[in-house]
Amino acid sequence: MKIKKINSIHYGGKVIGMGLTMMLLIPGILLWLNTFCECRIAIILAKILFVIGGLLLGGFACLLFVELRQDNEIDKFFAKHKNVKIEIKNEQYECGVCGNRNIRKDSAYCGVCGCKYN
Ligand SMILES: [Zn+2]
Repeated sequence: MKIKKINSIHYGGKVIGMGLTMMLLIPGILLWLNTFCECRIAIILAKILFVIGGLLLGGFACLLFVELRQDNEIDKFFAKHKNVKIEIKNEQYECGVCGNRNIRKDSAYCGVCGCKYN
């Protein structure tokens, strides 16, 4: 089974912020308030939020680990296909280095970046 490519760039910061708020900020405020008026519910709530925030951050760390592994695989693929012309339409090729799409089948060099094809 192939896992869909994970890309957390747009939500990663929000998830970390939410996790830290739930795990540290809100429990910290609750425990601080608890020093003025002793309230058992505040302590219980602080513990529950700490666990939920911890799980959220832990889950995100796993997701991030998978994402970095995927990025590493993609990087290896492109490193291996660096000096290659990639066929996009019949007789039309794209440069594997700079993405120039004006490459003919018999081109030995890229007219834009100058790389030599294997
Ligand atoms: Zn090129």
